[in-house]
Amino acid sequence: MPQFISVYQEAMKILRPVAEIEYMDREKYREQLAVAEGIIGWGITKEILAGAPKLRVVARYGVGYDDCDLEAMTKHEIYLCHTPNVLSDSVAEMAVALLMACNRKIVQADKYARESWAKGPQNRPPLGFDLRGKTLGIIGLGRIGLRMAEKCVKGFEMRLIYYDIVRNPKAEKELNAESKSLDDLMKESDFISIHVALTPKTKGLIGEEQLRMMKKTAYIINTSRGAVMDQKALVKVLSEQAIAGGGLDVFEKEPVPLDDPILKLQNIVLAPHIGSSTEQAREAMAVCNAESIAAVMRGEIPPPNVVPEQKGMIFRKSTVQQAGSAS
Ligand code: NAD
Repeated sequence: MPQFISVYQEAMKILRPVAEIEYMDREKYREQLAVAEGIIGWGITKEILAGAPKLRVVARYGVGYDDCDLEAMTKHEIYLCHTPNVLSDSVAEMAVALLMACNRKIVQADKYARESWAKGPQNRPPLGFDLRGKTLGIIGLGRIGLRMAEKCVKGFEMRLIYYDIVRNPKAEKELNAESKSLDDLMKESDFISIHVALTPKTKGLIGEEQLRMMKKTAYIINTSRGAVMDQKALVKVLSEQAIAGGGLDVFEKEPVPLDDPILKLQNIVLAPHIGSSTEQAREAMAVCNAESIAAVMRGEIPPPNVVPEQKGMIFRKSTVQQAGSAS
């Protein structure tokens, strides 16, 4: 039984009229896959697809579907849908939280207040910076990156620079955003926040060379995907204190193995991939997924929130199945 059952109630109301709903069960998931026409979840690989011959739609619980085999789905005429927009605030707020935690040394301060404050000023955390006028560098000014930028520019009066393969004239006008090369962004930023999707082109985008371009006083935040940044290189530069610190919600391997050297570092704040962990985001994501599944079950294709790579595609499998199930 899922842990956060209450946030799925609205989605259930959408699905009940058009589908039989079962929670995936570790013991009998093979039997469940064999009859499933729709799946809500993540990590849908070729192996899973091979056991699901009736599948017509996968609704990825989240945005970022790098863990789903899109090529195989497209080949087998299975729609892949996701949940754009509805979690942007939640993830952007998480990025802001990590930025603040880094800058004001919240983790160290908490430890100091509990264990050492009454004993004297030793171990007192170092000073942070006022954010006003500091430069925020956003890598990937998409849905989440833009929300992060808006919060920091409008809320903290930070200066905004960004690196993206697509220019954003609206952000340039309204937020005074300046488009930069990746190298210039790395060099100029006081805080860097990564928001690109993980693709073959963004895998390892931030390596040791890029990290070493950063100011010694700068911080790097990643709430996108672990593999966008070379984690070994990050550990190396942080160990040498070549940059001030980092805040991560995502990692190359999740959960982070207990012997991973990143867990030993003091100049980094870690979170267990909780970017979208708010009640509002999780409920809206479930509703978004349910709407995609329900549309396919009703024969309304293409369904809403289909991934950009499948935009405009009409899958016959869905229509044929629909005709069959109606009879
Ligand atoms: P988006 O597609 O709106 O934004 C991605 C941006 O990256 C776009 O503006 C795009 O043009 C840009 N981009 C793509 N390739 C690039 C490249 N090679 N170089 C520079 N820029 C490039 O996506 P989004 O909704 O903002 O989500 C971003 C990512 O956040 C997701 O793909 C996912 O991996 C991650 N995410 C994490 C959590 C979490 O819990 N931490 C939750 C949701 C999403």
